[in-house]
Amino acid sequence: MPDGTVGTRSMKSDIETLSVRSLARVVQTIGVDLGKRILRPGVDAYDRADYEVALSHFTETVASCPQLSEDLRPHIRICERVLSVVQTDDDILYRVSVAAWKHSSWLMKLRRRAYALQVRCKYCGHYTPYVAPDHGFAYLGSNNCKRCKRGYPVPEFGWDSMDGQAYIYYRHSVTEDEFYAEFEQEYDVYPDHTHFMKKSE
Ligand SMILES: [Zn+2]
Repeated sequence: MPDGTVGTRSMKSDIETLSVRSLARVVQTIGVDLGKRILRPGVDAYDRADYEVALSHFTETVASCPQLSEDLRPHIRICERVLSVVQTDDDILYRVSVAAWKHSSWLMKLRRRAYALQVRCKYCGHYTPYVAPDHGFAYLGSNNCKRCKRGYPVPEFGWDSMDGQAYIYYRHSVTEDEFYAEFEQEYDVYPDHTHFMKKSE
């Protein structure tokens, strides 16, 4: 986090250590054994957008290790937000079609095209085509939810951690105002958005 004496724009090199930093910190707090047993399955479920399973593991983790409540708060909030969204006819149709396809015979599978993978957007909660979280650029429109248009809609534990959000915030990686408003509300920051444009004295 900036202390007012340095620029407030994240460095590109920060991204390389992001997942390691956010995961390493929580594993260090909870311990390797417990982490493997209750947290790791939650992180895996979260990264494949299985919000319900992820939420149950994160809740269990916080109950066993309350020190992690701050670290897991962003993920828990996202899971709760998605799970509270009422699914539309399109969402239900996608789920039913995929389930039917999975249970059809190999002959039927040969005849029908596999459904392109969709996951529930971490912002609006509706299905959107899967795009890897580190692929493309949201400000160029190459990694956005097809429904709410917000950037990087697929959940990813590292990106959605406090560190990941801070990276996006200080690098101005997404274009929607909601992201910055939510971040400022959540983390109580009062940034000077023009700081990085000013000449050093
Ligand atoms: Zn969306």
